[in-house]
Amino acid sequence: MLNIDNLTRFELNKRSFEEVLFPTVITKEFFGKEKEHIKGFDSQVYWVTKAGESLLEKPLVLRPTSETAMYPMFALWIRSHADLPLKIYQFVNVYRYETKQTRSFIRVREIHFFEAHTCHENYDSAEKQITEYFEIIKSLTRKLCLPYIATKRPDWDKFPGAFYSIGFDVLMPTGKTLQIASVHQYKENFSMVYNIKYENIAGEHKYVHQTTFGMSERLIGAIISIHKDERGLILPPEIAPTQLVIVPIFVKELEAKEVLKVANEIKQELEVNRFRVKLDDRKEITPGNKFYYWERRGVPLRIEIGPNEVKAKTISFVKRTGKSRIVCPKEELIEKAKILFSQLQNEIYDRAKNFLKNNIKTLRSLKNLKKLGIYRVFWCGKRICALELENKLGMNVLGLELDSHEKEEKCITCNEPSNTVIYLAKTY
Ligand SMILES: [Zn+2]
Repeated sequence: MLNIDNLTRFELNKRSFEEVLFPTVITKEFFGKEKEHIKGFDSQVYWVTKAGESLLEKPLVLRPTSETAMYPMFALWIRSHADLPLKIYQFVNVYRYETKQTRSFIRVREIHFFEAHTCHENYDSAEKQITEYFEIIKSLTRKLCLPYIATKRPDWDKFPGAFYSIGFDVLMPTGKTLQIASVHQYKENFSMVYNIKYENIAGEHKYVHQTTFGMSERLIGAIISIHKDERGLILPPEIAPTQLVIVPIFVKELEAKEVLKVANEIKQELEVNRFRVKLDDRKEITPGNKFYYWERRGVPLRIEIGPNEVKAKTISFVKRTGKSRIVCPKEELIEKAKILFSQLQNEIYDRAKNFLKNNIKTLRSLKNLKKLGIYRVFWCGKRICALELENKLGMNVLGLELDSHEKEEKCITCNEPSNTVIYLAKTY
């Protein structure tokens, strides 16, 4: 998770965001200000009501998200247009009382959460921020090898208090989708409630426009489910806690000293070049069992060093996605490792991308349904038609296609003309 957090940090910092840490608890007064927001989270929040044996005079909320902790401060920080845009983010744990059955990394009550919050002078500037979020998500998910579809959530399913919400969903091997990120345009919905104003060049006081972007440990849930084979996990190199494992191989004790010496040299060279590497020199375990041990844990590359490699001054690599040895001269170690990482990255990304692509079907009739994967459907815009469709398919509406260029067709439910496409799937 920390490796994912660091990749996220890298993307945000290079786009002038600043990292912050806000308190875990929020006063009832601040939390209750935005009515839609509190309604949306009402049944999910934990309350701190006691200190020791005494009841608190003012109960506190464990944050389910941090708008209501941050925005009273934004109102103090922002004075003029020179203070804008304000771009901050934090990694914190948030708490949501989940009534459905919990599931590791996917449905939990204490969530490792990433949230970015921005304030802008006007709607257009906030819209540009939404575009920037798309760039960040694209770059990040490419490194995590997670292809996704992005849709605009229907109005009845947007974030509480948002003007609109966009969800990013991946397709899991079970045929269900999992939301891994969301971005929200708030317009002035929160700034009007929390009185976040700035003075423009003309000296007028205006409300700021706001956006947010959120992700969570669900990213790990997606990576573990999507990148695997019969031997176990396959971790994308960018986030693997161990990127390379070196397994020394020798038969006679005489060979051991020389093999281990070279193995240590290789480890050092990799570390100097900022690779995360382990040398598995355990004596009680055979090389074969070591292969199996590290494969199951998803380590992307294995290096085997035996007397032959020592003598020939070569390195033998085995990629987690293949079985054959790839041999190169020892001095090409770093260069070759980078090439193999990039190959593996592309292999598992392409595999997931094909799986996603092959499982999105445009649906024009409700006959002979397989009820798996993701359906694209023409829809007239009426909620009742969407609900009927959800019932018939046993699926949920993910959202509206973002750039629909197709010519007009008919709503699959009521036959009225439609040029809006919605996506449906079974969801986690
Ligand atoms: Zn309809």
